[in-house]
Amino acid sequence: MTHLEPVSFYLHIPFCTYRCSYCDFNTYTTLGDIQSEYAAALSAEIQHVGLSSNVKREVNTIFFGGGTPSVMSLPDLEKILTTIDSQFKINPDAEITLEANPETIDLNYVSGLKSLGINRISFGAQSALAQDLAVLGREHTFQTVIDGVEMARQSGIDNLSIDLIYGVPGQTVDSINQTLDLVLPLDLPHHSLYCLTVEPGTPLHRDVNSGRIAHPDPDIAADQYDVVSARLAKTDLEQYEISNWAKPGLESQHNLAYWYNVEYLGLGAGAHGHAGGKRYHVVRRPRTYIRRMTEVSENRLDYPLTPAVAGSEDIDLADEMADTIIMGLRLLKEGLSANRFAHRFDQTLDQVHGETIQELVNLELLTWHDLNGDRTLHLTEKGRFISNQVFHRFI
Ligand code: SF4
Repeated sequence: MTHLEPVSFYLHIPFCTYRCSYCDFNTYTTLGDIQSEYAAALSAEIQHVGLSSNVKREVNTIFFGGGTPSVMSLPDLEKILTTIDSQFKINPDAEITLEANPETIDLNYVSGLKSLGINRISFGAQSALAQDLAVLGREHTFQTVIDGVEMARQSGIDNLSIDLIYGVPGQTVDSINQTLDLVLPLDLPHHSLYCLTVEPGTPLHRDVNSGRIAHPDPDIAADQYDVVSARLAKTDLEQYEISNWAKPGLESQHNLAYWYNVEYLGLGAGAHGHAGGKRYHVVRRPRTYIRRMTEVSENRLDYPLTPAVAGSEDIDLADEMADTIIMGLRLLKEGLSANRFAHRFDQTLDQVHGETIQELVNLELLTWHDLNGDRTLHLTEKGRFISNQVFHRFI
């Protein structure tokens, strides 16, 4: 990997209008008054990284994640994007995504996003049913998702994704089918499906522990995943990753950068990044972040570090190779390319992990496909069920 390859940006927006019961993300509901200061700090961080990279790097993807990025004002988003544009070269066909909670947007806002060059919206819907949304502590209805999708399309943003959650206490195979009955007619090009985890410290964890809400049932969750996969397989969506389905050509380019395990710059409070041979993370607290990025300092840290970085480590070659294998195997359709691996590391997959791969192939957990002179390694159906155990063999 050289510094000259295109980069991706993950920009963390740590603000929400309320806290969902299951959420342990780095986000805050009481800091609405510092959003503009935060946008200025984020711009300062972008500038710092841009200046330290010495060359004007190309940018293929930008992802505003959170939190709820759609609470940011259009001028604040514009400031951030303008700064990226001044320090980097945003490719004309770059994918620029903003995560949106459907109740936070209106037509004027979405049209503004379009004018800023944002060309993809990822809607946090989670479920179409009121009872699931109540358990999750979500303060929107499915109607707001329908309205949001319509507004996005009216504004000319067609590249839309929806996040859904399964494994919710009280959710059944029938009820997730009802959610799909309402979601599929929206004909969205991209669907993400995540299993709920009850994280310690969240209100949902307290409610489950106190017995007020039933424990999620892993067997029901596994059945739900199967049912959703089977139904989506009958549509024009392809399952290109363990948790993601897309119409051909509309896969998330930003997430593909993670799964190819290539460089991405994580900026903003609590963000994680992987660039310049390092993994690093940024301080979590937004006020600390703002202070660190706005205090005048003569020191320019080496790419990709900034004064807001709380910790970093050099990436060891063996770890980089293992991560590349594990992330690549998540790509169900495309698989892990043997040629790309050899080109990147100057060692073949067989040289690095030949024995382990052969063992997993013999156990029918992995399989090779031949593809136009390349060989690609894939999880089998059986391997998908115990993918974490398969991945563990490469660590
Ligand atoms: S909207 Fe997302 S980030 Fe905000 S509280 Fe809910 S789950 Fe957490």
